[in-house]
Amino acid sequence: MDPVIVVGGGISGVACARALTDAGVEVTVLDRGRRLGGRMAVRTVDGHPVDTGASYFTVSDDRFAAVVRDWQARGLAREWTDTFDVFDGSAPGQRGEPKQGSMRWASPGGLRCLVEDLAEGLVTDRVAVEAVTRDERTGILSVDGRPAAAVVLAMPDPQARRLLDASFASRAQLVDDYAPTMALLAGWELRSWSAGFDGAFVNGDPHLTWVADDGARRGDGAPVLVAHATEGLAAQHLDEPAAAEPAMLGALTELLGIEGPPLWSRVHRWSLAHPVGTRERTHHLGDDGIGLCGDSWASKPRVEAAWLSGAELGAALAARLG
Ligand SMILES: Cc1cc2nc3c(=O)[nH]c(=O)nc-3n(C[C@H](O)[C@H](O)[C@H](O)COP(=O)(O)OP(=O)(O)OC[C@H]3O[C@@H](n4cnc5c(N)ncnc54)[C@H](O)[C@@H]3O)c2cc1C
Repeated sequence: MDPVIVVGGGISGVACARALTDAGVEVTVLDRGRRLGGRMAVRTVDGHPVDTGASYFTVSDDRFAAVVRDWQARGLAREWTDTFDVFDGSAPGQRGEPKQGSMRWASPGGLRCLVEDLAEGLVTDRVAVEAVTRDERTGILSVDGRPAAAVVLAMPDPQARRLLDASFASRAQLVDDYAPTMALLAGWELRSWSAGFDGAFVNGDPHLTWVADDGARRGDGAPVLVAHATEGLAAQHLDEPAAAEPAMLGALTELLGIEGPPLWSRVHRWSLAHPVGTRERTHHLGDDGIGLCGDSWASKPRVEAAWLSGAELGAALAARLG
């Protein structure tokens, strides 16, 4: 029997598995993706790795800072910028006062590399889990027939809900409200947009909320932009993401004054991009042996919060298992 099975190999699941392993508990991570990383996703297009999910991450917790310093020392993470522009969607070409904030971090190889690095040495398996069940007689949990002393679901709540039947009390902890978005990735032959632009919030635009210069973010200067759709546009085209592309591309080229079509472009759908609500607790560990973690267990759904959620659940579970 596996002592612990973690379903979900995004940063929360991997942080949980790492905390368990560090405490001497055997753990297996199952993820349905071709590679680990979840919403810290990267797609390689025309030879360029492009961040299609999370745009960057910030650091405030000392424990996460130690992990990030190690990534930085090994060249896996880099400081990107502390300042974003503000574009006015109702008056393309107009820019508001740039917004300065905390340092935003990126990864030269794309953010997924960081999750893969954290998972180094863990037992992982590529499998789409269908159900977590409990034997009524023995009380033993199993993940698609694979027995486990405890099961962690490290994924958006609606995905976790699909795996648990009503007999699990922990199911009552899950929420349904998530917002979608879409990411438009587009590459040109040359950078024809204005210099000094790293990322920008887009205000007052019906189609876009955010634009990132992906080459500036990863540090290789690739002429690639990534734009995120408004929730309204994403919700309208969830069944056929490609149909959102003309509106997104039109808005992007107008905002940045880019002439001529890109060499390539793609739209990636995120049906469960962000939880809408927030939670005070960082995780759930039920008497039924089910642990829940992820970015919905936070006051702000972010990469750092997901890492903390997983790490704290891992520590709590290790303490329970003795
Ligand atoms: C478009 C977008 C932009 C974002 N921008 C930012 C940003 O700028 N800064 C920031 O900090 N955060 C950002 N985020 C949020 C950030 O990506 C998340 O907070 C974080 O990655 C969540 O990690 P997680 O481990 O909780 O969940 P996930 O990364 O979603 O991991 C869940 C994993 O579970 C797996 N899974 C699900 N169901 C099953 C199953 N049945 N069987 C097996 N595996 C399964 C999935 O394959 C996935 O790998 C953004 C997210 C999106 C989508």
